[in-house]
Amino acid sequence: MSAVVGEVRTRVYRFPTPAPEADGTLQWDATTAVTVEVSADGCTGLGWTYSSAAAAAVVREELAGVVREQDPADVRRTWTAMHRAGRNLGTRGLFMQAVSAVDIALWDLKARLLDVPLADLLGRVRDRVPVYGSGGFTTYDEEQLAEQVDGWRAAGCTAMKIKIAESWGTRVDRDLARVRQLRGLAGDDVALMVDANGGYSPGQARRVGAELDDLGVVWFEEPVTSDDVAGLGLLRGVLRCDVAAGEYVADVYEAARLAPAVDCLQLDVTRCGGYTGWLRCAALAAANGLQVSGHCAPSLHAPVAAALPELRHVEWFADHARLEPLLVEGAPTVEDGALVVSSAPGHGMVLSERAEEWRTG
Ligand SMILES: [Mg+2]
Repeated sequence: MSAVVGEVRTRVYRFPTPAPEADGTLQWDATTAVTVEVSADGCTGLGWTYSSAAAAAVVREELAGVVREQDPADVRRTWTAMHRAGRNLGTRGLFMQAVSAVDIALWDLKARLLDVPLADLLGRVRDRVPVYGSGGFTTYDEEQLAEQVDGWRAAGCTAMKIKIAESWGTRVDRDLARVRQLRGLAGDDVALMVDANGGYSPGQARRVGAELDDLGVVWFEEPVTSDDVAGLGLLRGVLRCDVAAGEYVADVYEAARLAPAVDCLQLDVTRCGGYTGWLRCAALAAANGLQVSGHCAPSLHAPVAAALPELRHVEWFADHARLEPLLVEGAPTVEDGALVVSSAPGHGMVLSERAEEWRTG
């Protein structure tokens, strides 16, 4: 490719939730998406991250100057330059979320310039990407959860996840009652998953985990804070269900630290360095004999999840499943419990004109 990357454009969108939502340790009433577009030779690539509007400022002020004039073929070279540019700011957290959005846009641009689907450029191993239904916020009443499970069943989901550890683990009876309700709604053939978002103490998580084992739960996500790697490892050793974590992993060092303590490593393309970073971290999982589960952002995970042999599934997260078809044209649909991977050039998505309604920056 002889073209060079031109302008780097950012936009910020804020999508309110239908009602206030919460998990075990956080409440929210909107989701912010920061998009990045990069262009070269008449083609435009699109990426985004779910972050703060501040991520757009990081892109504009710290990354755009690094990315402009680069060869769009050399995505890993540009990724490395962006990573190095963050040395004094800190290369993780908000900074890496900004890098993630740019990296995704660069991969999309490269695939479009080559006129190939991104999944093929990355090295496709499957055409359909299995998902699990994810939501079950602690703010839901029984009727709202029933309605959500109906939607997941209609989409063919064979695994479903709800939030527990309500109010920092102070409503354990309600947590367990809601898991029992999920079993009743989902039926015996669905794999039940729960996410405590780090809301339990280690001892509490061990006791709740024993009850979850009795209820046939197969996946216990962040039973304790994922900063407590030793705690995760302890729980992995005593519980029958899988212990999962990794949604905050920003790089290979953090992936390497967490991998020995979990049964499945979660990785988020919008936080761990885009497709470049996700595949680097996924290699760490493989080296530890682990599968990878894509965290949130189902539309963005589709092409890279299609290229990972060790994939377990991708999280079809309710907030993102709702907003992604509003943000972009061409978001992949879920059929028979799997994302249908795009056969269009790039990842197949472009910003929707409709999305202007939710634009804030
Ligand atoms: Mg989680």
